Amino acid sequence: MIRSLVFLIGMTAALQASETWEKVKVGRVEYVSLDSFAKFYGFKIAEPIENNRPFDLTSPMGSMQLTLDSREMRWKGSRYWLSHSIRQNDGKILIPKVDLVKTFDPLLRPNVEVPRRPVQGVVVDPGHGGGDEGTRAARGLSEKTANLDIAKRLVRLLDQAGIPWVLTRTKDRYVDHGDRSKLADDHPGYIFVSLHLNEDSSRSSEGWETYSLSPQFAPSTSSGGSFFGDEDEVWPGNEYDHHNFLLTQAIHRAAVLAKTNAPMDRGLKRARFKVLRLANSPSVLVEGGFLSNPGEAADLRTEAYRQQVASWVFEGIQAYKRSQESPEAVARLKLVTNSINPLASGAGQSTKRLEEVPGFRPKSTNSGVVSTPQPASAPIVKTNVEPEIRKALPVSTEKKE
Ligand SMILES: [Zn+2]
Repeated sequence: MIRSLVFLIGMTAALQASETWEKVKVGRVEYVSLDSFAKFYGFKIAEPIENNRPFDLTSPMGSMQLTLDSREMRWKGSRYWLSHSIRQNDGKILIPKVDLVKTFDPLLRPNVEVPRRPVQGVVVDPGHGGGDEGTRAARGLSEKTANLDIAKRLVRLLDQAGIPWVLTRTKDRYVDHGDRSKLADDHPGYIFVSLHLNEDSSRSSEGWETYSLSPQFAPSTSSGGSFFGDEDEVWPGNEYDHHNFLLTQAIHRAAVLAKTNAPMDRGLKRARFKVLRLANSPSVLVEGGFLSNPGEAADLRTEAYRQQVASWVFEGIQAYKRSQESPEAVARLKLVTNSINPLASGAGQSTKRLEEVPGFRPKSTNSGVVSTPQPASAPIVKTNVEPEIRKALPVSTEKKE
């Protein structure tokens, strides 16, 4: 209750300072003008802007590429998918408002609107298990097995760094999605990292994609920018939208911008995967390569490459974790390039507030909304899987001195 009240007061304050934004609604989607976007963040727009050709926005923070009628965005060498396309209407170029709030602002001002959230530990979730094999696109190597192997490599790295962790499974067994996500509930301050491998009907599909929960009013990336149904619009996202994005992009960039063997960059994407919807913590789902691609499957058969995948995820976790520590630690941070404070560029943004989008309710304030669909999950089994998991592991979960 107190939480809701604080949120409402915060929202009112933010709404009062909304006059800097030029807003337009086209169909069901709200936009802000590119001009007001560029002004707020201190970007210069490189003219002319032509259809289907990327155009540059530059600032002391870095350069961004947007494309008219496209959802694709690039920032400092990596790729992101917006919820809706950049479009033109009555001669004005428009930026989707949901992307302004849920993608651009966390990207460009990671620590301005939302407090830092120190990482206490990591729930590592090897996807699938037991009767649920995941993709079997690679002969002789099932996804559930590779996920578990990568997860065990990841927790060893976390262990060496003194970061507490817990695994959602340590063996080849089925664990319900609710139980996986519940481990994050049982460990306040932990983040949730789900590990998967991809498949596609085309054997040539390859690369790395990293998923963050779709925020409210945002269609999932795979929908091509259109809503499947009303639930896409009213699904509340969760109160970790901002941190979901920061964590996801830290892991994504660690992989696709790696100096050696970097996988092809398929972009940071959005989806309403059940484990992401149910996790009551900042969460991410990694698709670390295609088992349906003969080259990537061959790589993933090697221990060296699975170790590499684990290391990229680990580096991303480390980068996110550091970004949530002291401002001094953030200043030293090189990997998460979004940590650069736009206030330092002299743009004078310290007094500005980003308008909160009405209706973007955190999960915790949502209980009275009848139309909001609830997760279509199986009932959550109350057994605590953790003790079994800790016992089964060869590595210590204790913090090292
Ligand atoms: Zn999977």
